[in-house]
Amino acid sequence: MTIDLQASEAEPRSKHIRRVWIQALAAVVAIAFIWLAGEGTAQREKQLQVDAIHRTLEVQTLALRGTVARYNRIPFVSGQQANVHALLKSPRNDALVNQVNRYLEETNRRVGAEALYLMDTDGNTLAASNWQEPKSFVGDNYAFRPYFQDAKAGREGFFYAVGTSTGVPGLYLSTAVREGDATLGVMTIKVSLGEIEEAWNRNKEPVSLIDAHGIIFLGSVPDWKYTATRPLKADELAWVHKHWQYGDRQDIAPVAWSQRSPAEGRSFDTYATLDGRKQHLLALEEELPEFEWKLSVMSDLAPVQWARWIGYAMAALLALVLLLAFKILQLRERRYAEMRRHRLQLEKRVQERTAELQEAHAFRKAMGDSLVVGIHARDLQGRIMYVNPALCEITGYQPDELVGQPPPYPYWHPEDLDKHWQYFDAVLSGQNTLHGFESRIRHREGHDVATMFYSAPLIDGMGQHNGWVTSVVDITDQKRAEEQQRLQAARMQRSGRLATMGEMASTLAHELSQPLMALGSFAGAARTYAERGHRELLQETLLDISIQAKRAAEIVGRIRGFVRQQTPGFQACTVNEVVNNVLALMRPEIRHQQARVIVQLNAELPAIQADRVLLEQVVLNLVLNALQAMQDKYPVDKVVRVETGLQGDMVFIRVSDRGPGIAAPVAEQLFEPFFTTKPEGLGLGLNICRTSVESHRGRLEFENAPQGGAIFTVYLPLES
Ligand code: ADP
Repeated sequence: MTIDLQASEAEPRSKHIRRVWIQALAAVVAIAFIWLAGEGTAQREKQLQVDAIHRTLEVQTLALRGTVARYNRIPFVSGQQANVHALLKSPRNDALVNQVNRYLEETNRRVGAEALYLMDTDGNTLAASNWQEPKSFVGDNYAFRPYFQDAKAGREGFFYAVGTSTGVPGLYLSTAVREGDATLGVMTIKVSLGEIEEAWNRNKEPVSLIDAHGIIFLGSVPDWKYTATRPLKADELAWVHKHWQYGDRQDIAPVAWSQRSPAEGRSFDTYATLDGRKQHLLALEEELPEFEWKLSVMSDLAPVQWARWIGYAMAALLALVLLLAFKILQLRERRYAEMRRHRLQLEKRVQERTAELQEAHAFRKAMGDSLVVGIHARDLQGRIMYVNPALCEITGYQPDELVGQPPPYPYWHPEDLDKHWQYFDAVLSGQNTLHGFESRIRHREGHDVATMFYSAPLIDGMGQHNGWVTSVVDITDQKRAEEQQRLQAARMQRSGRLATMGEMASTLAHELSQPLMALGSFAGAARTYAERGHRELLQETLLDISIQAKRAAEIVGRIRGFVRQQTPGFQACTVNEVVNNVLALMRPEIRHQQARVIVQLNAELPAIQADRVLLEQVVLNLVLNALQAMQDKYPVDKVVRVETGLQGDMVFIRVSDRGPGIAAPVAEQLFEPFFTTKPEGLGLGLNICRTSVESHRGRLEFENAPQGGAIFTVYLPLES
């Protein structure tokens, strides 16, 4: 599977532009939705208010019409009375006046009106229901009032005004009192609309009653009373003054409604201060054509505004919730896409890794197969997990006979089981086993194979220690060759030493026998001459003796000179070179002994003038002695330490071992010629060593190490 990264990287730009467009569109839609929701809610609330106002209007209109209907027949009915007619005909008849007064008073009381009164055709009040009250209408003339004029002209009088006598406003309903075609007078009833007004006052919505001139004459808001809802023309104002409609008010101020919006049908909205608070109001008007009035009811628009804001808020909330839901969906979608992409990448990586691993495995297998060195891997418990063909070749076992096996492994040599277990434990306990472990193994077919084992910890990719890998090298051939070489060298060393010793001994014997024999016979002769008193002869013989002694000394001197002649002589060399040469020479012997040599050379040592061959013989002897002293030890304990260093004006070579050390009786004779504790020893090694060292003006010292073992140190002067 391939991933088209090119395409997915090129996409974002166009995708980005598309996303910006979609976001802008979503923002426009959201704003439109919020606006529509706000306006819709406001409209609904407004409609509810309009409906409520309509209901109020209907109720109040009915109440007004009911009030008028209740009273408007009363003047006519009262005017039918015979004594009313009689009074109109004889106005000065006090008895009639009295009768009619009482009648009107009684009627008025019954119908519950403000006043009921009778005027003659000139407008003079002849009788009135309030004839007994201080502000009685009796005697007053109301000819200037339109209701009088209308009634006199044969129409129904209908007029709302402030009373000229009482100052109390009321609705005047009047009709002519007739007899045949003749008009005798005018009967009028004044009705108070106070109760209606009181009912309006209880209403929270402002209600106003407006006359034909647009003047509010009745209403629930006292401040608006007697103010004009439209500009009054001069003649209209004059008419109002003339008919004393609203008392002695000279001017009618415009109503305190501001910013009135153009009326839509019968409704409009406006701002006005009510209860000390500026309010936005919705007003609705109802025409009462029969009275030429208009009834206006208003309602506070604040709830509409509230509804609008609530609408906005709800829609915004909804939009937010939708946006959030959309975002969550989008995020989820994105996460899924991300996860899909990751999975694809992971699959690809797994495939790549698998291919790499297969390749590495194939490579490792080819490597393992091609190796001549045997390899096996073990887990932490020592169970074999893997063997390569070379190991099978070396041991003679098939992989399935080895894999899964815990120790002891079938190829361990039965006589070396202890050594194998020791090495196994050393490996498992993490001891340094890099220098290898030499051991025999038993081939499946029964013969022995000499091997070297090298182990290293198996650490996996996470740094976890999983087991051990051991390489097994077949060193049988090498061992055989080394053994032969060693035997040869030992033989040669031995025969060389013996030859030299023998030669020296026979030379010494031969050379010295003559002077010694001569000395013996001269000494015998001297004794005889001395006994016999032959002084001269004695003297001669003693001279001969000294000559022979001198000769013997010459012989010894010659041999010493001969020993010196065999070496190339003094030359500049370093003790480090000497040590390195000796160790290189002795490597087969050291390996054979399964010993370990720890070398600690001071690299800064200056060169000295010395006979390198002699010094090499010294070091060789000391190392050989050390190895021999540790012969009975386990290989792990066979450690020779060779150090070089500087002490004062001397360089030193120190050879230490972990053998038994030097016991006191041995120490006394250590440097004596022919002293040895070894069955095949010559007892000359240390003696020659000391002579050689002393010929360099140096000294050879020994001591026992506190932790056991002997320490031999050769000190050589820097300046010889
Ligand atoms: P040889 O090695 O032939 O015995 P040497 O003169 O080299 O002769 O040694 C004399 C004796 O000193 C040895 O037989 C041995 O007992 C003792 N000796 C020498 N070197 C050591 C040593 N490193 N540890 C213990 N004993 C030693």
